Amino acid sequence: MLNKNFLLMPGPTPVPERVQLAMARSMINHRGAEFQAIFQNITEKMKKVFATSGDILIFPAAGTGAMEASIVNLFSTGDKVLVLSIGVFGDRLADIAKNYGLVVEKIDFERGTQICSAKVAEILAHDTKYSIKGILFTHNETSTGVSNDIEAIAKVCQQHPAIKVVDAVSALGAIPMKMDAWGIDVVFTGSQKALMLPPGLGLVAFNERAWQAYAHSNLPKFYWDAAKVKKSLAKYQTPYTPALSLLYGLEESLQMIEEEGLDNIANRHEILSEATRQGIKALGLKLFAQNGASSVVTSVYAPEQIGGKAIQKHLREKYGIAIAGGQQNLENKIFRIGHLGYTTSTDIIVVIACLEMTLHELGLAVELGSGVRAVQQVLLQNNQ
Ligand SMILES: *Cc1c(COP(=O)(O)O)cnc(C)c1O
Repeated sequence: MLNKNFLLMPGPTPVPERVQLAMARSMINHRGAEFQAIFQNITEKMKKVFATSGDILIFPAAGTGAMEASIVNLFSTGDKVLVLSIGVFGDRLADIAKNYGLVVEKIDFERGTQICSAKVAEILAHDTKYSIKGILFTHNETSTGVSNDIEAIAKVCQQHPAIKVVDAVSALGAIPMKMDAWGIDVVFTGSQKALMLPPGLGLVAFNERAWQAYAHSNLPKFYWDAAKVKKSLAKYQTPYTPALSLLYGLEESLQMIEEEGLDNIANRHEILSEATRQGIKALGLKLFAQNGASSVVTSVYAPEQIGGKAIQKHLREKYGIAIAGGQQNLENKIFRIGHLGYTTSTDIIVVIACLEMTLHELGLAVELGSGVRAVQQVLLQNNQ
């Protein structure tokens, strides 16, 4: 059957045609003036997206590379770090830290809920000797579809000298981030989520306190060494060959972000997620997020008699729509609809309409049109 490729996953996300065309350009000398101009433009625009005056370090890497780059540049063997986890990606931060010989205190919050900042305040109040050197947490937990209130968490951490590190891989560019104003020291992201690019870039923002931590850090590093990146950055270069095509694409996607405006982008994601949630509820399905429902990915309990995998497979095979399943112990229990990056109201209408048909075809009693109507109402109310 002829299928268009509708990508409604929380990464990788659809790449706009403008960006694809920009990436098709020929290779250039990465030590030449032409590259320097591109890299300077990217660096300056990325600072606005992070809302920082700090340094932007760009590595050819998956998002996990950016996670690892953050940890190896900030800490030393035996340092204690507090990891606040609400899902798979919070757990990954803890795993990386453990692999490097850090002492990890991981606090797990119930899956489907946010980090409770009062609980964080309580833990930090007991750390009177400041033995905690770093506090690591996730902006948007992609595996559960829950976003944390970063501003509130950062506020309760403010009196504590630990380095604050935020994984904003699925958030940055779609969910507001004010790195400097909120007092966060390190924020990192990846290219394949809200930045509307293919996978392959890890971007890490470092403030002055992060550089001070770097000076004391003794963890082994070579490729990830932030000081080498900073030294090259002074000439708008990279220490090793940059992922040129992705950088061409990033320059174009940052141009698109500037044209739409970060506030408008955040607002679009809010409306599309609200439309998705209302569509899901109108179909009689249950949302997984108990609070902090994400504006970039909606997680839904699959009806038990069908399971998430069958829904995902049917949508893909019959309708050409790729959504995400549940990860680890949520496998088959939930499915996740990404509405992140280059996504419009039309995508939401399509996915909910096809989900209705899928559920019907898989034997669930749904009233055709009920989900779509709920989506349409939200979109019309918000002029989307
Ligand atoms: C996607 C994602 C990552 C890691 O991305 P990879 O590119 O798969 O390594 C890390 N954290 C969060 C919150 C993510 O959504």
